[in-house]
This record gives sequence, structure tokens and C-alpha cells, in this order.
Amino acid sequence: MALWNERYEPVIGLEVHAQLLTESKAFCSCSTRFGADPNSNVCPVCLGMPGVLPVLNHQVVEFLIRLGLATHCSIAPRSIFARKNYFYPDLPKGYQISQYEAPICEHGWIEIAASEGNRRVRIRRAHLEEDAGKSVHIAGTNGSRVDLNRAGTPLLEIVTEPDLRSADEVVAYLKGLRDVLMYLEVCDGNMDEGSFRCEPNLSLRPLGQKEFGTKVELKNINSFKFVKDAIEYEIKRQTKVLNEGGKINQETRLWNLDRGETVVMRSKEEAHDYRYFPDPDLVPLKLEKEWIEGCRKHVAELPAARLQRFVSEFALSEYDAGVLTASKAVADYFESCVKLFNQPKTVSNWVMGELTRELNNSGTDASASPVLPERLVSLLQLVEQGTISLKVAREIFPEVYSSGKTPEQIVQEKGLIQVSDEGALDKIIDEVLAKNPTQVAQFKEGKQQVLGFLVGQVMKASGGKANPGKVNELLRKRLG
Ligand SMILES: [Zn+2]
Repeated sequence: MALWNERYEPVIGLEVHAQLLTESKAFCSCSTRFGADPNSNVCPVCLGMPGVLPVLNHQVVEFLIRLGLATHCSIAPRSIFARKNYFYPDLPKGYQISQYEAPICEHGWIEIAASEGNRRVRIRRAHLEEDAGKSVHIAGTNGSRVDLNRAGTPLLEIVTEPDLRSADEVVAYLKGLRDVLMYLEVCDGNMDEGSFRCEPNLSLRPLGQKEFGTKVELKNINSFKFVKDAIEYEIKRQTKVLNEGGKINQETRLWNLDRGETVVMRSKEEAHDYRYFPDPDLVPLKLEKEWIEGCRKHVAELPAARLQRFVSEFALSEYDAGVLTASKAVADYFESCVKLFNQPKTVSNWVMGELTRELNNSGTDASASPVLPERLVSLLQLVEQGTISLKVAREIFPEVYSSGKTPEQIVQEKGLIQVSDEGALDKIIDEVLAKNPTQVAQFKEGKQQVLGFLVGQVMKASGGKANPGKVNELLRKRLG
């Protein structure tokens, strides 16, 4: 079978649903808290009782404007809400309130790093949609139950133009968009809890052809790895069908994790299947200029700008600055440390090295690090003051991370205070020199590199506690 990229070009667009970080739902005052008892966060409005009226949550609109401003969208001064009608047991009203014509945000872009350099991925539109409930299938029975806690939760739907060409580009875009949403503090980006999920649509076309092929939609994927796997699988599958002279069906497919393949969920659906029409319960939304401008101050420094500032303000390499600013939580952590300990390069090494290793091992986000910036800084200060060696600091960090003890406590308990006292060091040096007469003679004959060996022996004899600078100095004095 020919490789896909020899004959066909993938054309991929994305729909992302991001749950907004509001306390209450989009059109009622029910809580949006995750993990509550089933059907405890519901009211007549989100249950779709007759005669009730939705009231738009002000915060939702603000969050949408922030995203629009941050992604260079035009913000519509007037937009309307529409009913998207379909039947499903977890949708009590029989429709979702969404936007169809006249969404709030349109025509924006996000820049991604692609193989040929940085490139803009165009955002067609971003609008508000309310979430549906959740069907829970009861294991071992044919029965299902419905939990409507999520019904009416505000979602931001962000739709791109079909500008992406590979699974890697899709992942780059998703990571970039998730960073922006998290930087703006409008979405927590939690993929496990479904706060950030995507639906790619994908078609192939012969290289050089302008017209798009028939597209397939992949439903609700909530991890970067799954989206990459699903797209790569789908590219291979479609290539095979086309190479064998077959036709691609327009359909929606699901990613089956266990089988590592996509499976048909339903055949094609079009916008008119949803019979969109303006919601008669909601008046058109008019946005005053002042309101839009007021949101601008919340559009915080975005990752790309912060990266550049880290390079110029802290003299970090592009690479280090990129790693630190890839997550807002990590960047915030780094800056908190530097405020207390003004050695950006040292702090950056520790945050990217020891701290990241422990966070990854325990699956913890930097915002929830058990080692607060103050505590990491107190460890760095112990090294700076010469109380402990860098080596000891590295060795005790996992314990600082997991035990909740302060670095000072651990150093005291384990007797790790660095020995800089000349009297104490001289005694150890005496022993080492007595044990290694050959090396001493070699050094005196001019073989300078033996010194490193002798320093190592002294360090070893001191249990790693000797101050290496001091040992070096004393040895030179004695042998010189
Ligand atoms: Zn409600």
C-alpha cells in the first residue's frame, strides 16, 4: 500500500468544546460543580419544564468576548441565540440553545508551529452552546439512567477552517488553544473531566487538487494522544479505501480505544437536520463597545508574548522560556520563585528539572504542587549560603516534595550540613592523602588531573558533605 503522503493530502478542521469556568449554568443559577450527586444541580429551567424562561449568564458572554479578543476574532455587536433541535434522552428540552446565524465571534486565528514554520490556523467562529446531560448505562442490564447535572452548562464551541494537514498540526493547535483558554482563565482545560474535548473532521484529496474530498467526523475525543491516534488511523483507513477504488461515506465515527480503530456511529447529518431557528425566549444580544473594551484588560499576556518577555527580562534561552510558558501554572510558579530568589537561570533549571520530574511522577499540575515557591526557594538559599551542596539539594528534593517537611528540617535530621570547617576537612584530607601515596606522588610530578581524583576521595570520605570548593582549595595548598 502506498503511503498516504505520496498520493493524498489530509484536510482537517476542528470543532472544540470547552466548558466555561462559570459558577452557574448558562441560563439558570444551578451550580456547574463537577462530581455532585446525580440530578442534584438541576431546576425547572435546565430540566426543560414548560413555562419557564432562560436568563443569560453575564459571565458567559464576558468569557466569550475574552476568547474572541485573544484570538483576533471580530466581536459582533449584535448576535442571536438559536434552538438546535434533536431528540435524545439526555436532552430534556428537545433542543440545545446555541448560536447559528450571527455568532458572537468570527474570523479569528491562532498561530501554530508547523513543519514549514509558524502558520495561522483560521478560526471560523466561536459561539456559546449549552451542554446536554449524560446517559449512564447500568452494567449488566439493558437499562440506562440520565444525569442532568451537566444539562445547561455553558460550552464555548470553537470551529476552525479546514486548515490543518496532519495529526501533529492538530495536536499543536489543540495545545495552543487550550493554553490560551487556560491563560484567559475561562476554562480549566481538564481533559479527563471533559472540560476540553474535540471533534476533528477529516477528508483526503489527491495532491494538487483544490476540491475537498468527502469528510468524516470523529466524535468527542478528550486526549491529545487519542486525537493523534484517531487521525492517523483515519488517514490510513481512508487512503486504503481510495486506493482500492472505493468511496468515502460522509459519516460520524467514534474512536474505539480498545480496538485502536474508528467505528461508524451514524451516517451523515447536515445543519438542516437540526431545524435551527431563533430562540423566541431570548432577545438578541447587543454588546456595547464599552463592555467589549472592558473585557480587554482581562485578556492577559498570552503564551507567545510571555515567552518573549521571559527571554528579554530573565535572559533565558528560547527553549527554556518555551518550556516554562507552555503552561500558565508553570510560568506563574517560575515567576513567583524569581521574585523571591533573583537567579532566573538557577530557578529555571530546578523548575524544568527536579520539580517537573516530581510533578510528572505524581501526575500533579504545577498549580497544585505540594512544594510551594517559597519552599523551593528556601532550598535554593541553603545551597547559595553554602549550608548544603548542590548534590545534596538534588538528593533531598524528592523528600521535600513528598514528606511535607521543610528543607531545613530534612537537612538537620539527616545531618547533611555541608562541612566547610578547615579543621574538620584537614582531618579527612590527611586520611585520604595517607591512603593514596601513588596519586600524591603523581601530582607532585606535575600530573594535575589527579587532583580531581583526590577531591572525589575526600568527598566520598565525608559522605558527600564536604564543601567541594573548599576541599579543592585546601588540597592545592597541601600539595603545592
Ligand atoms: Zn438549572
